[in-house]
Amino acid sequence: ASLADVDRPVPDRHRVPDRHAAVPPSAPGAFTNTPDTDPAVPEHRAWVRDVLARVPASRLGSPAIEAARVHDAGDLDALVRDARRAGREWGRRPASERAAVLDRAADALEAHRGDLLEVMASEAGKTVDQGDPEVSEAVDFAHWYAELARGLEHVDGARFVPAALTLVTPPWNFPVAIPAGSTLAALAAGSAVVLKPAGPAERCGAVLAEALWEAGVPRDVLRLVQVEEATLGRALVAHPAVDRVILTGAYETAELFRSFRPDLPLLAETSGKNAIVVTPSADLDLAVRDVVASAFGHAGQKCSAASLVVLVGSVATSRRFRSQLLDAVSSLTVGLPQDARTQVGPLIEPATGKLLTGLTELEPGQVWALAPRRLDDAGRLWTPGVVTGVRRGSRTHRTEYFGPVLGVMTAATLDDAIDLVNDVDYGLTSGLHSLDADEVALWLDRVEAGNLYVNRGTTGAIVRRQPFGGWKRSAVGPGTKAGGPSYLAGLGSWTSERATT
Ligand code: GLU
Repeated sequence: ASLADVDRPVPDRHRVPDRHAAVPPSAPGAFTNTPDTDPAVPEHRAWVRDVLARVPASRLGSPAIEAARVHDAGDLDALVRDARRAGREWGRRPASERAAVLDRAADALEAHRGDLLEVMASEAGKTVDQGDPEVSEAVDFAHWYAELARGLEHVDGARFVPAALTLVTPPWNFPVAIPAGSTLAALAAGSAVVLKPAGPAERCGAVLAEALWEAGVPRDVLRLVQVEEATLGRALVAHPAVDRVILTGAYETAELFRSFRPDLPLLAETSGKNAIVVTPSADLDLAVRDVVASAFGHAGQKCSAASLVVLVGSVATSRRFRSQLLDAVSSLTVGLPQDARTQVGPLIEPATGKLLTGLTELEPGQVWALAPRRLDDAGRLWTPGVVTGVRRGSRTHRTEYFGPVLGVMTAATLDDAIDLVNDVDYGLTSGLHSLDADEVALWLDRVEAGNLYVNRGTTGAIVRRQPFGGWKRSAVGPGTKAGGPSYLAGLGSWTSERATT
């Protein structure tokens, strides 16, 4: 069912339909993930339609982001120093108090689900089916990091001393879940946060910050800041009062940050070039579904996206697999996020550089199974592309395009497929479709990536169940995984509880 295809009375703006009614109660105190909006429920669909109607004229977050702009180096310096002082105070509060604020933050994020969907669609081009799980993920991060905070203070005779100030620099592609996760983790650990949203998704960051302030996060402990990146952005990253930086973005950005300040304590989740391997034992229907969702969800603009599919043995020549894949891809509806029929929304900005090359230029041996077509003058709307004949070591094999183009590779054996998958600089997510236990064991043993998914797509890691983070050039820093049990522990230092004599 489409999310908005029924004619029903429109619920008022802040009454988010209850998602928990359909979820069985869990044991008291057990962590449960928050359910998404359910297109099968008429009330949910009607609510979504109301959200979509607001998208074209939406200016949510504008006053807050205007108020957050800093143009002067002296003002920025004072702001960073004030935030660090506030962080010292915040870190001295009992962890249970901070955890209680985080639990309230979860409620506030849920209450603002509609606003968050509206701003993600209007500013970042996110369709509701892509944005909605982000809000659920943000809610989950709040509850999960609250739980971790409660257990953080005393571990094995060591005392946790939080960083006083964490700078959070999130990307635009997950403009709610990622800044929420990084910010909430730092707050839970006992650090103040300077949140500098990505330029193309700054209103999303502002709406998020407003929800957290509303929940009781002190305004001096969470500072929303927007600066011109080339000048004050550099000063912010290099500022000596910043104890930690949590970056999610391109590997090159992590390198740039390190060049600003070589001793920078950086936790970075960076780029990916991820593949799904399909073997002859796979359920091919499921494989098609997961490849399409992983390659083209949010127009492929995810570090976790599958931008390669590696067909093993007879799958490479299977007419059925080929026709199902191409039918599925060519039937995707490309459009604007406010249109409930849209499955592939716009690119964040017109395709240029390596993405434009990937969308328009073939390499030797390659053939378009589906050539991408540009649908608008600006170059933001593209039909998804599928390119076959991708050779080992080619640009399409090894370059992260971050857009709606899928490369098809073939391999004689699973061993060969794993070699191809590992022959890239990154190691973020990886997928296998196989119903053979020996194949699964071999692949799990040899594939080089942080998040391994068997008979599932490669995107949409679930908080606590699938801690998220990569290897190789997909991570810079300690490599602790977001949403996992040890993430907070990387946001401070540990000292011995007893003085030694
Ligand atoms: N955590 C997201 C996922 O599992 C990906 C984050 C990213 O693309 O940076 O899909």
